[in-house]
Parts: sequence; structure tokens; C-alpha cells
Amino acid sequence: MKKRLKYIYEVQKNVSMLGGALALLDWDQKTYMPKMGDESRSEQIAYLSKEIHKMLVSEKFFREVNKLRKSRLKGKDRIVVDRLYRDMLISRKLPVDFVEDMSRTVSLAYNAWQEAKEKNNFNIFKPHLEKIVKLKIRECEYLGFKGHPYNGLLNYYEEGMTVEKLKPVFEKLKMDLVELLREIKKSNSYKEKYPFLKKEFDKEKEMKLDFDLKELMGIKKDFSRIDISAHPFTTTIGINDTRITYWFKNKDPMSSFFAVAHEGGHALYELGMPEKYAFTVVHDSPSMGMHESQSRFWENMICGGKYFWQYFYPRFKREFKHLKNVSLNRWYNGVNEIKPGAIRVESDEISYCLHVILRFEIELGLITGKIKVKDLPKIWNQKMMEYLGVVVKKDSEGVLQDMHWSSGDFGYFPTYAIGTIYAAQLYDKMIKSNPKFINDIRRGKFENILNWLRKNVHRHGREMSADNIIKRACGSGLDPDAYIDYLRKKYLEIYK
Ligand SMILES: [Zn+2]
Repeated sequence: MKKRLKYIYEVQKNVSMLGGALALLDWDQKTYMPKMGDESRSEQIAYLSKEIHKMLVSEKFFREVNKLRKSRLKGKDRIVVDRLYRDMLISRKLPVDFVEDMSRTVSLAYNAWQEAKEKNNFNIFKPHLEKIVKLKIRECEYLGFKGHPYNGLLNYYEEGMTVEKLKPVFEKLKMDLVELLREIKKSNSYKEKYPFLKKEFDKEKEMKLDFDLKELMGIKKDFSRIDISAHPFTTTIGINDTRITYWFKNKDPMSSFFAVAHEGGHALYELGMPEKYAFTVVHDSPSMGMHESQSRFWENMICGGKYFWQYFYPRFKREFKHLKNVSLNRWYNGVNEIKPGAIRVESDEISYCLHVILRFEIELGLITGKIKVKDLPKIWNQKMMEYLGVVVKKDSEGVLQDMHWSSGDFGYFPTYAIGTIYAAQLYDKMIKSNPKFINDIRRGKFENILNWLRKNVHRHGREMSADNIIKRACGSGLDPDAYIDYLRKKYLEIYK
């Protein structure tokens, strides 16, 4: 048994080391690599990915894990072996030729999607998406989950979550959000303009503030880097080396600051993974939703909050002369402006989950056959009107805006909303457990808050499901009420 254990830990360590090398190649490609290196870099990445995949699906590895599973194991070994076994069972459900067919299909579909978006022509993407949907329906059959066929897809990203649990949560959330949006639109403040947030800020000064925020959150220089890329992301290269990237968007001077808050939340989570599970599959988050809860927690609840700006706004004011006559209150209202639009990644805190729910409903319809691909643009635009009151002017800003479906990522979107709900539950619980946290935020002290997250979320790694972590920390699993309460309290004060 000792030999077997040694072997499976060794394989995991090798996978994790190759994974780190892969992450570094990818990070470099998205930050500093000269453009002409693109082709050979893609080959290097594809090769390493294949090698990692081979190690994970090898018959010998599965055999050894399976034998260990039946032996008497304790503590860490038991948790790691069970975890590996469950992961492998799922990946082994898909026949090899199916996986190959899928990967060929999505690589063609991705190019078609890019062209369709560029030319604003859904028909270019349509046949590809039809094929993907067909394959996804087959994939659900192979996975063979209980209940709704979509459960197997959801499980990839949010283990244990089901349509049966999620649908009523989203139903309620949708109703409450649509109602709240209606109330906000009636308020006089809804017409308020914030020109001081449409002006370009001096980039160097802004970068200094972005960097200050990163340090303030506790992402120390010796453990991280911060660089610029086309889209913000977080990646871990190895133990104690987690990197974030951010961006500067035209006409949205706060985009870089909030990108740092968001990616910083992901980075703190990565850096807080339990050491004892280093180089194993448990040294990871249990779900995408859980990961997203950490970024949303910092981006929305902390850095979008009044207490935070009481501390941080004076710094902005000192750096940027055009803010001289802008009061703290006006600034706070400005950075939290509600303005429903067509694009998900640019949406405000209230519209955001409605964008997600719309996609979830469409995915369910496609998988059950109730929605046909050819009708997507029409259905999309109807729902946008119904939920957000937004007229979609062209498909490139509607049904074609996200890349997820072209990559076959069905079941991914819901995790954005799940994470946002978890974030609100965690914040609510933390403040109720000790109101001194509010004073900490007001003074720009985040150590206690980070420790609270470490203790309640980070240290578990992938030992249990996201929903169980939330149950232990907050007393109940996924529950939209804390989120709705948080939104109503915050936004009905801004939009009186
Ligand atoms: Zn994120």
C-alpha cells in the first residue's frame, strides 16, 4: 500500500509540475511573448496539455487508485484517493472517439464564432453551434446523471449542483432583480450623470493606486506579479507564485481598479490553498462558483462598498485634480451606477445575474430540445427586453457576445451567479459575526478579513463541495436572500 500511495502522489506531483509549466507558457503568451511566437507557443501548449491528459487517464494510474480506494486509508490519503477516484470515474465516461469529435468540432466552431461576431452574422456560427448542441446532448447521455440531463454538464463546474436545486433559486432571484430594477428606474437619481468617471485618468497615477490596492488586500509582492493583458485573469505557476493581470479600458477609468479587486480575490484564494495538500488534486477550489465568490467578495462587497471608499477615495482625490469638487457620496454613487446594457462583462451589479440567468434558461432549452439554435437570436433579444429592458441592436452584441458556447462550455455560466450569491452570503455572515470588520474596512485594514476567509473557505481546498463549505460557514447552502437583501439595502439608498 505504501508503494502504491507513493506512486499516486508522484503522478499527481508530476501533473502539477507540468501544469505549472503550462500555466507559465500561457501567462507569457498573454502578457509579454512577441506576436510571431504565437504558432509555436500554441503547439507547445497543446503538447504539454496532451501529456498531462495522458498521465491522468492512464490505465495503471486508475488501477492503483481503484485498489487504494478499497484499502484502509486514513486522513489525507483517504480524502485524496476518493477525490481522484471520483474525478476519474467521470472522465472515463466519455468514449475516446467522442472526445476527439468534440475537440475537432469546438476548434472549428471557435474560429467560426470569431468570424460571425466580427461580421455580425449569426448564420456563420449557426451550423457549428447546432453540431455542438447535438454533441452536448450525447455527452449528457454518456454522463448519465440522475434527474435533469443538464446536471452532468453543471457538475463539471459546480460539483453537486443540480437543475432541481438551481432553477427555483434563479427563478426567485430573477423576479426580485427585475422588481428592484423597476424601482431603481423610477428614482430621480436614475437620470444622474457622472462625467468625472468618463474621463481618462493619468495612467501612471492610476497604476500606482491599483498597485496599492493589491498590496492592501494582502497580495504581497514576493508571492505575486501584476501585469497587463487583453482580458484580466489570474493564474498560479507554483506554490507561492500566483499572478494576476488587468486592463485599461477606454472611457472606463475604473476598469483597471476593479479588475485588480476581482482578480486579487481569485489570487488570495489560490495563495491560501491548504499546504498539506500541495501537489495533489485537493489543492484546488471545489468549484468555479466558489472561486468566483472570492473575486466578487472583494470586487463588489468590499471595494464597491461605502466603507471602503471612506478610506480610499481621499487617495483618488489627491491624485486627480478633476475630482476636487466631487464629494465622497457622488463618487460612491458614480462607481455603483446602475445602467442595464447589452453586454454581460460590462454590466452592473444588478443586471449581472439577469444576464447569467438568461443564458442558463437558453442552455436548458437547447439541451432538452425545447429551443432550436436557429431561433436563438430572436429568443435572446426577447429575453433581454423582458428582463433588462434593453434593445439588442446587433447579434454581435447579443447572442454572439460570449465565447463559451463555441468552446462547448455549457453549464459554466450559472457559476458566475452562484459565486455572486455565495459572496453575499459570506459577507453577510462575516459582518454579523463581528461588526468590527466594518471598522477594519473603514481603516483600510484587511488582515482580519483575509484571515476570516482563510479559516472559513480557503483552508478547505477541495476537501468538500462548495455548498458544504458555504453551509459550514453561513449555516445554509446556496440562498439568494442574503444577496437580494444586500442589493436592496445598497441600491435603494443610492436610488432613493
Ligand atoms: Zn472571476
